[in-house]
Amino acid sequence: MKKVLQQFKTGDLSPITNVARIHLDDTAPAMRWSLSNKVLAYAQSGELDCRGYRQWEQAGRMVKKGEKAVYILRPVMVRMRKQDSEELEEKYTCIGFSTVPVFAASSTEGQSGLTVYDPIKYPPLYEIAQKLGVAVEYAPVADNKLGDCLADGSKIRLGTHDERIFFHELAHAIHARIDGELKGGQHAGQETIAEFTSVVLMDLYGFADTTGNAWNYISQYAEDPLLAVTKAIGTVEKVLKVLLEEELTC
Ligand SMILES: [Zn+2]
Repeated sequence: MKKVLQQFKTGDLSPITNVARIHLDDTAPAMRWSLSNKVLAYAQSGELDCRGYRQWEQAGRMVKKGEKAVYILRPVMVRMRKQDSEELEEKYTCIGFSTVPVFAASSTEGQSGLTVYDPIKYPPLYEIAQKLGVAVEYAPVADNKLGDCLADGSKIRLGTHDERIFFHELAHAIHARIDGELKGGQHAGQETIAEFTSVVLMDLYGFADTTGNAWNYISQYAEDPLLAVTKAIGTVEKVLKVLLEEELTC
């Protein structure tokens, strides 16, 4: 932790690296949706691969009894009448939106298997997460995020195989356990704790230096990243203690 903090203090930060996302199966209809529909479906169901009833049938799966639909929006396009004329305009105009019910992949059953998005090799602490009762799910997520964590820390969802994101969400989950529950939305203090914990774990397990990413990330939330980290450090220590003590007793 001291080493990472020192890097922050001296400005000795690695260049920003891009994270490779888990991509949806090419055949999934959501591939062709607008960003807002992807975000809508994901926010309601926690899954990106949502499809209409018939679309699932075509993929060899049935929607399970009692499963609830989530809704996306489809623009209602009409050809307006030309001014003072019976003729119709060439172009279509959007006059509003209608809702379209779709179902998440986990709401379906059938012979045709769903794509498994898990990595070939799980990251360090993956088993610890399970032992601590944190479910880990790998699946494509909406384009506006890379992963997330339920407020009670019982489950994390990862839209990438990158260890940095796994550590970040795992830190959120453990933090939730320590404090009872996470605050909703992107809370500056919480993000700093998760991101700093992640960098320390990346360093500890010998992955690429990601301090630059962390600095950039924390800067989005805090004017002075170093001060934010200093404030967060007590909780970071607690989170690391839970994770690493559990690993030592394995
Ligand atoms: Zn976060």
